[in-house]
Amino acid sequence: MTFSLPLNPKATGNADTLTQLPRSSGVYIFKGAGTLPLYIGKSVDIRSRVMSHMRAEDEVEMMSQTMHVECIETAGEIGALLLESHLIKSLNPIFNVRLRRLRSLCTLQIVKQGEGWMPAIVNGKDLGLGKVDGLYGLFGSVHAAQSKLRELADQHRLCLGLLGLEKISKRGCFGLQVKTCLGACVGHEERPDHDERLLNALTDMKVHAWPFEGAIELVEQSGDWIQRHRIQDWRYLGTTCSKSSALKVSVQQSFDLDTYKILVKPIMLGNAQIETV
Ligand SMILES: [Zn+2]
Repeated sequence: MTFSLPLNPKATGNADTLTQLPRSSGVYIFKGAGTLPLYIGKSVDIRSRVMSHMRAEDEVEMMSQTMHVECIETAGEIGALLLESHLIKSLNPIFNVRLRRLRSLCTLQIVKQGEGWMPAIVNGKDLGLGKVDGLYGLFGSVHAAQSKLRELADQHRLCLGLLGLEKISKRGCFGLQVKTCLGACVGHEERPDHDERLLNALTDMKVHAWPFEGAIELVEQSGDWIQRHRIQDWRYLGTTCSKSSALKVSVQQSFDLDTYKILVKPIMLGNAQIETV
């Protein structure tokens, strides 16, 4: 399912190449004179995506350096997304906007604070991200987590003092004076009401714990061609294929944000075909 075709920067002979490109899901790799890739992308229709790169005015430089296009077809879109993310991270093509490597992700953990609850900013590595419940949001820095909390406090009229972002004086938090806080810090609002609004505000940011006992296989099928992506604790462990030998993927050792984002919806919404192993 992997092949390489010439893509002439002078636009002669390209018509042949383009008609040979598959109209199916997969990853395509633009290569120049050297062996390292210039750009890696994915599409559910490789041919039309490559053609749109050739028409794009702001990609003229990249396309003028491209001499070959390599394709790896996949049985479905999730396989293409996983493979694209894996290849970009391991090969670092110069024309891909560098995927920021978030070395230390932090998250919000709801912890007991007196009679109520508060979000503590904690390092995801220490917690086993993707394995435990009660975590909300994934951030590249403590500062980013604090900014998000301030934004939520503003939207939902929460108390910055009770969120741990401000000292509470006898007269309450600063937000109380400017009427952004409903007064949980001085008892004007019942603490459980405040905390309920906090938890509601965080719901959409929930970091799902891995919902299975161990590894699963996410199955994608195109006609009689079947690919099985092995996943455990939101980590991508590799793909086996009914047509060719297994795709070699260096097993992800730790939680990876991009992989989580690719997998969380299809798995949590139950849209994907899943087999336990
Ligand atoms: Zn307050």
